[in-house]
Amino acid sequence: MEFSSKLLEKAVNEMAQLPGIGKRTALRLVLHLLKQPKERTSFLSQALTTMREEVQYCSSCHNISDTALCAICANPKREHQLVCVVEDIRDVMAIENTGQFRGIYHVLGGKISPIDGVGPSQLNISSLVEKVKLGGVEEIIFALSSTMEGDTTNFYIYKQIADSGILTSTIARGISVGDELEYADEVTLGRSIVQRVPFEKSLRG
Ligand SMILES: [Zn+2]
Repeated sequence: MEFSSKLLEKAVNEMAQLPGIGKRTALRLVLHLLKQPKERTSFLSQALTTMREEVQYCSSCHNISDTALCAICANPKREHQLVCVVEDIRDVMAIENTGQFRGIYHVLGGKISPIDGVGPSQLNISSLVEKVKLGGVEEIIFALSSTMEGDTTNFYIYKQIADSGILTSTIARGISVGDELEYADEVTLGRSIVQRVPFEKSLRG
């Protein structure tokens, strides 16, 4: 791609670093910004910079938050003894949208995937095991997507907490294997949380 302006080229190249954005799309977005009032670009770049600088991760559940403790963990009305284990914030948002879950979350930040070089130590697993050991947790609900990586991660965590005597369950799936949680419709996802099954049972199935 030949550019008549180095400034334009630089902006397009930066934009094209984003996933799913090729150079053509990047050029279209940048040209769009050029047509808009200058403030639009300021608002956009400021929102991104501030978000990157100031965003925090909840010290309890690792959810993305504006405060040290996220709004869900800080809410006394939530059932803190009920912990739903998810991969990332998109899953928290999807489950919150169902309005069917009153517990709290634990965000792993990914799934165990040896192919991608992701081992248990790179995920927020030890803090979950610690939380269980400290007491106060009555049930862990696994809500990872039912892929091989999701199953491996569930089983790894399950082994770590199996002797604690707490309940472990997995969300009942009305969704086919490999479907990512965030794409499941609200009704199906809500039902799958309410109708969760004991984790041991899911192993035999
Ligand atoms: Zn939290």
